[in-house]
Amino acid sequence: MQNLLHNLNPEQLAAVTLPPQNALILAGAGSGKTRVLTTRIAWLIQTGQVSPAGILAVTFTNKAAKEMLTRLSAMLPINTRGMWIGTFHGLCNRLLRTHYRDAALPQSFQILDTQDQLSMIKRLLKAHNVDDEKYPPKTVMYFINNNKEQGLRASKVEAYDATERKLVELYDLYDEQCQREGVVDFAELLLRTYELLLRNQPLREHYQQRFRHILVDEFQDTNNLQYAWLKLISGHGTQRGGALFAVGDDDQSIYAFRGANVGNMAAFEAEFQVKNLIKLEQNYRSHGHILDAANMLIANNSRRLGKNLRTDAGHGEPVRVYEATSDLQEAQWIIEEAKNLIGEGARRSEIAVLYRSNAQSRVIEHALFSAGIPYTVYGGLRYFQRAEVKHAIAYLQLMDNPHNDSAFLRVVNFPARGIGARTLEQLQNAAETYGISLYAAVPYMVGKAGTSLGAFVKLVESVRFETQQMALPELVRITLESSGLLQHYQNEKEGADRIENLEQMVNAATQFVSEEGYGPGAPAHLGPQADAQAGAAIINADGVEIMDADAPLATVMSPLSAFLAHASLEAGDNQAQAGQDAMQLMTVHSAKGLEFDNVFITGLEEGLFPHESSSKEEGGVEEERRLMYVAITRARKRLYMCFCQTRMLHGQTRYNMKSRFFDELPEESLKWLSPRVQSHWFANKKAAWEDVQLAGGTDNAIAQRLTQKSGNGSGWRIGESVAHAKFGEGVIVNLEGSGANCRAQINFGTAGMKVLDLSVAKLERL
Ligand code: ATP
Ligand code: MG
Repeated sequence: MQNLLHNLNPEQLAAVTLPPQNALILAGAGSGKTRVLTTRIAWLIQTGQVSPAGILAVTFTNKAAKEMLTRLSAMLPINTRGMWIGTFHGLCNRLLRTHYRDAALPQSFQILDTQDQLSMIKRLLKAHNVDDEKYPPKTVMYFINNNKEQGLRASKVEAYDATERKLVELYDLYDEQCQREGVVDFAELLLRTYELLLRNQPLREHYQQRFRHILVDEFQDTNNLQYAWLKLISGHGTQRGGALFAVGDDDQSIYAFRGANVGNMAAFEAEFQVKNLIKLEQNYRSHGHILDAANMLIANNSRRLGKNLRTDAGHGEPVRVYEATSDLQEAQWIIEEAKNLIGEGARRSEIAVLYRSNAQSRVIEHALFSAGIPYTVYGGLRYFQRAEVKHAIAYLQLMDNPHNDSAFLRVVNFPARGIGARTLEQLQNAAETYGISLYAAVPYMVGKAGTSLGAFVKLVESVRFETQQMALPELVRITLESSGLLQHYQNEKEGADRIENLEQMVNAATQFVSEEGYGPGAPAHLGPQADAQAGAAIINADGVEIMDADAPLATVMSPLSAFLAHASLEAGDNQAQAGQDAMQLMTVHSAKGLEFDNVFITGLEEGLFPHESSSKEEGGVEEERRLMYVAITRARKRLYMCFCQTRMLHGQTRYNMKSRFFDELPEESLKWLSPRVQSHWFANKKAAWEDVQLAGGTDNAIAQRLTQKSGNGSGWRIGESVAHAKFGEGVIVNLEGSGANCRAQINFGTAGMKVLDLSVAKLERL
């Protein structure tokens, strides 16, 4: 036990060893919240206060859950399988798989990702002749998801006008369609579990009694439904129920745009009568300059719960700041600095490049690729979202649940089998008429359409039959072949990569079955044996004995169902190849909770970070500032920040001003690597920017306006590319004076910044 606790400071120790009561640990980044939470689980078990089965821990990503399990196994000589540690979605998936009958779901229900959800909504609009200009599919999707996240079914949503009534009607139709197909979207996973527990008293009481300790990391980013779910499962307001231990940092609340409600922290404190509010103020992650930057920045936000961070680590290196002329140059600079770090012995995996929006990664990736530096992108185009992989998954989905219309439509004519749009339209009409899935509607089709569709159904059935006794990896392999997918890509000119990705899936399946505790030869289709191996027996509302979802997933889901759920739920996590030492690229959002020795924060430009959308929303800039706070506090030893004068984004060249966040950082902690002579340039840009923003203008308009503003009769323009015999190529960044006295400030890249007298200097236009 001594071992477990001896590394903690007094506040951490107090938090870890709190009595079994509700508690809130409010603390800044890197103060050991996650460490405290993990250690508390170990301590509770080691001191015999709870069995592993009495623990429910919620993490923000699957990766974090895995890490927590690994740490716990290292701390305790126990089998961690009995513990419930996962994301809200993962935990709900597990509950629904076990209690699928009570939740009115088919045993092999499937999970719709956002892309599938959107295409389903598009089909729905079409089938009901809804004008998709008046009701854009995305709007309908947000409407549905938002209401689900508020815990509201269509019948409970209040509509105030015709448009809203229509949206409610679509929401209802959508839910009906999901039920028909046996699919659930992400928000539904949560809502369905919530309703299940709410309705089903024996089940609810069982879990309330079972989970003595519920621990939640990153509590500041829970949404209303998640909070309600926690209230329910922790038996809030009843005599039953375990203790809820929440850790969070209001300064790191960055998911408001997805419905997160930082107000849950205050609500929790009041509603759960939290007596134990512990603050941790010692930071163990970052060196002093980095922490000073974080503290000073976040002090600009109002409405904070208030806490400070200090470190014993010493100042360390100052934060390096670089101004690049373009995004290309920014990427080059990152590579130079990264090479230096690697040269000094840094592991590549300890170098992270963070950006505000995914679109920024392309240029950086390209530069890394050219430089031959291995890298991994988190949450880019995820493996399971690549087109060829999605096709293969669709075949597997049909094998597990043929009523999934999205899967059906994705591959019914892929590879091409002569099934045309008209045939599919007829099929959709038939399905609509009889209120059944497309697959089930095939027998109603006659003539040529009936024959070609019938052949497809036969294909699916025969592969399912053929693979009946096979293990998952083998089933995947047979499916890739029999579906014609491999063949299809073999005939394609650029198909080699795709084939490689497809073959990778057999490996993914092999790894999956071994990690999840399935026997190597366990038949992929095998129905769960769970009922036979039940944990504590529970009697459900109908007097039927049901089982506890105690058992590992392996006993409640067939390998195939489990693999498909994994593809939907875990696809977004880190894809780093095990053992490969690669640089880490990711958005700031997905860096939450992580730490690296060296961090680059890129694209610190007005309009990008803070993002332009934030100026339109109340509290938008404060949320961006929290995001910046998260970014800064990922770094242990070295922090780099950069911004560009121009950037190509979404096909447009943008002229940028540096981010306002620079003005909020302590000057003494920064080291500017590029000369700071651009004040006029910025003044000009700022004015142009403001003018055009007032007029609601575009980036192009800003550039144009900038040109007008800087025209001084010299015949030259700011932003123009020029060449000089001695200094090479450069860009005019500022013009001063007029007529014969005109001078230009030019950034020559390699030769650096020069101020030249235009009446003397020989410049060439490029
Ligand atoms: P974030 O807000 O970013 O999620 P956090 O508060 O969860 O951060 P942790 O990730 O738990 O912080 O801890 C940050 C780092 O400090 C980790 O590397 C952790 O191992 C280390 N650490 C935490 N507490 C101590 C301690 N008492 N002694 C030494 N190192 C510690
Ligand atoms: Mg943490």
